[in-house]
Amino acid sequence: MINRLGSCRCGQVKYEVRGAPKRVGICHCKDCRTESGSAFTFFAIWALREFSTTGEAVLHGGRRFCPKCGSRMFSYDEAEAEIKLGTLADAPTPYRPTYELWVKRREPWLAPIEGAEQHWEDRHVRRVDGEATE
Ligand SMILES: [Zn+2]
Ligand SMILES: [Zn+2]
Repeated sequence: MINRLGSCRCGQVKYEVRGAPKRVGICHCKDCRTESGSAFTFFAIWALREFSTTGEAVLHGGRRFCPKCGSRMFSYDEAEAEIKLGTLADAPTPYRPTYELWVKRREPWLAPIEGAEQHWEDRHVRRVDGEATE
């Protein structure tokens, strides 16, 4: 099983994920835009038991970040951990998104990822061609 390491920019928060992620996606929603200060987030989900972390990550709005350097790191619940893949030591990562969320917020100069599921909003909401759900 392959272990991958990640950390915040200053190194105070570190983590490890073990094995392959359950799924890999990107999200263009307003929360992800504002939180990251960028156009979208790139993340992957592991079972919580395949994730461990050291250091102090502060929780805000369900998401954890390093209080020293501000790097956005991960969030987790009792079952799964969602990792912001830009914090992995590997750059580029070996992962490719298989779905995109909130494509209605996608910058118009960004092309859809070929072969990736396109979700108008969250995963359970499917876009009907030519018909906005909002
Ligand atoms: Zn840090
Ligand atoms: Zn989002």
